[in-house]
Amino acid sequence: MNPRRLNNNSMASNEYRIDLNSPNNIEDIETVQEDLVNQIQQTNRPNINNDHLHQLINLLKDNLTSTFPFILILILKAFYEHSAGILMVIFFSASIYHANTVLVDQAALKSSRQLCPVIRVILILIISLVSFLYLFREDKFYLCLIFSRPSYTNWNLSTLLWVLYSTFCIVKMMIMILKGLLILYPLSSDKGKYCLTFRKRGSYFSLLEYSSQFYISLLTIRPWISFLLYNNNQGNILFSSFLLLFYATIKFYNLYKSTVELRQSINKSFQNLPFPPVPINELRENMCPICQSEYQDPIILTCKHIFCEECVSSWLDRNASCPLCRSKLPIGQANYRDAFTSGYLIWY
Ligand SMILES: [Zn+2]
Ligand SMILES: [Zn+2]
Repeated sequence: MNPRRLNNNSMASNEYRIDLNSPNNIEDIETVQEDLVNQIQQTNRPNINNDHLHQLINLLKDNLTSTFPFILILILKAFYEHSAGILMVIFFSASIYHANTVLVDQAALKSSRQLCPVIRVILILIISLVSFLYLFREDKFYLCLIFSRPSYTNWNLSTLLWVLYSTFCIVKMMIMILKGLLILYPLSSDKGKYCLTFRKRGSYFSLLEYSSQFYISLLTIRPWISFLLYNNNQGNILFSSFLLLFYATIKFYNLYKSTVELRQSINKSFQNLPFPPVPINELRENMCPICQSEYQDPIILTCKHIFCEECVSSWLDRNASCPLCRSKLPIGQANYRDAFTSGYLIWY
């Protein structure tokens, strides 16, 4: 028997036959052992990284399990000391999320919106705002909204984060109250005297959102200055000044960019649809493909498809193409026209 008989086929089927009568059987056994070891090493090689990963995960798991009770103690202590603040953060986040969902849904319903959910959302937001300003009246938190410094003495990192997050939430809530009122305001399909077209309302939503983002990015300046200047117990004014200069440079650049973006977005948002109206008596069909009823103020797109202005406006708020043939249309896309409020935290 040839000692090197372990060809690929026999390796694959894991069959090893040793001729016990052969004088070379010890040599055979050694060769088989050697081949088996090689085979095991080869099959194990791709898993080396996985094994390390598993070891690391197990190590982390063990560490976390043993340290978890102590982390819990820290969390409980922090929660006890800052319970009002933490509860407020949770309550703010939940009510902003809920309000956002309701407002976007009701804004999309146009004239068939329900007044009750919108009024309820507005009331919840007003109660949240008033209770916040009342709970933290000693801190004079309202000063944050007029570029002034609330009466915190210790400007450590947690104070900074707390001020930034609360300011963000308060401004978002105020903007959502205004958006809610705008949803309640009569639309042109309500046939009122001082009503608003759907497209104009979208532009106001967009304007409110962009201006609130710009306002928040301005409001973050004062807390950052306080943090960089008043957090320094050792009084190393040189280092503080260096950090302040660094912050001012980046912030100035950011503000310049935001201003340009704000101007562009407002222009896009208030541009009229560049499509001409069609006299109703010139129409071959009298049913709008979107609302499936008679045309109201029809306009003709560049692709020659005709829709009611209000129907196609709600589509064009999200897409720059024809809803029927999907051909591209010459309009700039503006966001936030659907009453959506961005939850993206502006913290610098
Ligand atoms: Zn229509
Ligand atoms: Zn079309």
